[in-house]
Amino acid sequence: MSTKKTPDPEPAPADCARCPFPVADRLCRRPDGRAPENCPTRAFPELVAEGLTIYRDRHLEFACQASIQEAEGYADRELGYERVRPAKTRIEEIAEFADKMGFTRLGLAFCVGLRREARAVAGFYEGRGFAMVSVICKVGCVDKEEIGLQGDQKIVPGQPEAMCNPVVQALVLNRAQTDLNILLGLCVGHDSLFLAHAAAPCTVLAVKDRVLGHNPLAAVYNLDSYYRSLK
Ligand code: SF4
Repeated sequence: MSTKKTPDPEPAPADCARCPFPVADRLCRRPDGRAPENCPTRAFPELVAEGLTIYRDRHLEFACQASIQEAEGYADRELGYERVRPAKTRIEEIAEFADKMGFTRLGLAFCVGLRREARAVAGFYEGRGFAMVSVICKVGCVDKEEIGLQGDQKIVPGQPEAMCNPVVQALVLNRAQTDLNILLGLCVGHDSLFLAHAAAPCTVLAVKDRVLGHNPLAAVYNLDSYYRSLK
């Protein structure tokens, strides 16, 4: 009879988004907490250990400063977790985090549709003492037909139309040797390509939502009411 051990079956995919337990009671919040069958905290101790090694070996300062910034984002911490108050906007948190990391040169990859906001954002960070390098999505003026789009697949069918060019946005910021890149309103998918090609770490100041004033969560908050037709 064979003694070969059959490998343990892979657990069902993680589904933390629908964890059934109150957040304060969960295994990911306390070592004696509760967890469903497919809990990744319970199923993957080796990945948790691997993650810790990666932080310690490659990202120790970055991870520490990000967590310090997180804590400093609250006021009244001495009153306990139930009574802390949010204290900082994201735009200032990015400035403070960059300062903590000793970053001096920030990249700003922005959408043409948010060019006014980009001007304000660049001015804000310059006022905080950073050198700014900003690149618009249409950089290069490459027509969409260069990547194979047909005339009827453009915003205005049949007209010349510069493509969003997130790869070149990244290459320009890479050439400038930015320390940290800030994304401002890049399109779905274009943001993915920028992130894939940027050499520096990146953070997002705002995402694009053309309908909701760049606040996609407005649709989420209304999914059971006015936006139910989306489901
Ligand atoms: S890590 Fe486990 S306990 Fe935490 S939310 Fe996910 S499933 Fe729930």
